[in-house]
Amino acid sequence: MASYDIVVIGTGIIGSFTALHLADAGFKLLVVDRNGLAAGTSRASDGNLLISDKSPGLLFDMTVDSFRHWDAMIAALGNHCEYDRKGATLATLDPRREPGLRRHVEEHARHGIEAGMLKPDDIHRVEPALHPEVAAVGWWPDDRQVQPMLACYQIARHLRARGVAYRLYDELSSIEPSAAGVSLRFRSAPTVACDRLVLCTGVWTPALLAPLGIRLPVLPRKGQICVIERSDLVVRTKIADFAYNDLVEEIDPDDPRPQTAAIVEATRSGTILCGSSRQFVGLDLSVDMDVLARIMRDCVAFVPGLKALRAIRGYAGLRPCVPDGLPVIGAVDAHQRLYVATGHEGTGHGLAGATGAMVAALLAGKGSPFARACDPKRFLQ
Ligand SMILES: Cc1cc2nc3c(=O)[nH]c(=O)nc-3n(C[C@H](O)[C@H](O)[C@H](O)COP(=O)(O)OP(=O)(O)OC[C@H]3O[C@@H](n4cnc5c(N)ncnc54)[C@H](O)[C@@H]3O)c2cc1C
Repeated sequence: MASYDIVVIGTGIIGSFTALHLADAGFKLLVVDRNGLAAGTSRASDGNLLISDKSPGLLFDMTVDSFRHWDAMIAALGNHCEYDRKGATLATLDPRREPGLRRHVEEHARHGIEAGMLKPDDIHRVEPALHPEVAAVGWWPDDRQVQPMLACYQIARHLRARGVAYRLYDELSSIEPSAAGVSLRFRSAPTVACDRLVLCTGVWTPALLAPLGIRLPVLPRKGQICVIERSDLVVRTKIADFAYNDLVEEIDPDDPRPQTAAIVEATRSGTILCGSSRQFVGLDLSVDMDVLARIMRDCVAFVPGLKALRAIRGYAGLRPCVPDGLPVIGAVDAHQRLYVATGHEGTGHGLAGATGAMVAALLAGKGSPFARACDPKRFLQ
């Protein structure tokens, strides 16, 4: 029977950074995915790494920490994932929201984040495509964008070259934790033994834990993106409706109605991603044209030039959402053999660096400043 220190399940952005940090800590690893690399939610998102959408608190601190880990990853492995400090703008069309946006900017500046309100004369210099009568715009020059799949591919390439074992297209089907370690069964391969298992399995985590009697409330929160054809329209930053920040925090799993707020960003290839929606409709990944139309109406209100362009594609993904809005990272069994790292909702790329570092610290017996707030035990009492 093959044996490892740690098996990581999932090659999305969370599994990728977790494997990277565990390998750096010297553990012998196996990394598994039932599909190809990054075939889950990490494939179906835009790749914003944002502090602008956070308020001071845990997610804010984790994002600041994550930016450091992203920078370190790029410095060590090179930039093969379109990592770009392009900045973000939060805009409002409603003059009544200007004081709230200004307070948000000032709070960030007090916490050491580079952020400011754009002067009216500067708004269209920074972001020429914004509506001419936009009421107020805040600017976060240090926010970043990445192509998430390329980031997962580049980490996997690096780890494989270092001798880390990967097993793709093989599904973990059962887990048996004990005081001595964990025994794992897969669909198509022999049983694997490991000291500890880390599930980076996003919205599919509850189904793996349920047979063990462990109930973790990781709910799929569907989101859709509309891809716009390449054109001459210039979109420099990630533009978001300031109302987007409130939407993220309004979590009501019993309400299946879609919520939307505008996000507009250009990709390196020249297409423009327009998002996005939030909806609790289970594991449904179908593209709902009514929701896409609503997203486009929201986006055209901020960036009128989009109206003349063609939509070429729509896609949907499932954000792993936990009711209290915080990730769940830590051990879930009595023997401290079975760990989870999920629940990052719409900010998994932004939090991936801090998450990987935190899992590696916990498994090495060290502390993490984020461990208590993210501890899954808050749901397991
Ligand atoms: C529309 C949309 C836009 C988004 N935009 C952003 C953004 O701009 N910035 C940001 O930070 N976040 C964004 N997100 C959120 C982000 O995509 C997620 O938080 C992140 O991708 C979660 O990553 P993960 O690794 O936890 O999960 P996943 O990427 O879903 O990875 C889980 C992996 O586990 C594998 N798996 C599951 N079960 C098994 C099993 N039994 N055996 C083997 N393998 C298994 C799956 O195949 C999958 O590859 C967005 C999400 C959506 C839907």
